[in-house]
Amino acid sequence: MALTDWYCEEVLVGALEVDAVFEDDRVLAFHHPRPSASPHLVVIPKRHVSSLLAVEALDGELLVSMMAGVQHAVRSAGLDSGAGFYVRANAAAPGVTPHMHWHVLPGAAANWPQPE
Ligand SMILES: [Zn+2]
Repeated sequence: MALTDWYCEEVLVGALEVDAVFEDDRVLAFHHPRPSASPHLVVIPKRHVSSLLAVEALDGELLVSMMAGVQHAVRSAGLDSGAGFYVRANAAAPGVTPHMHWHVLPGAAANWPQPE
């Protein structure tokens, strides 16, 4: 059974209210409603893009807006000091919502190999 694209089906149609920290005409950045860290934010395109691998759907303006969303998420959550932060993007992994989303997470909560 395919995973639900809850970004398109709930967040972007307003069925699920989110605590937004940044929005322009291309992207939305908000606190994740089911956080796995504190804080845990997510940045998504407002139009459907399946993942970073959907290169035909990406363009420079969208990527600039995604980065602006990350910057606002980091600063609004105070992740620009202390342990820092990670940006984690989905890419066709099993169990991942099929809508491109970049998680913004505190560095101390990162659950993957640390850079040497
Ligand atoms: Zn979608």
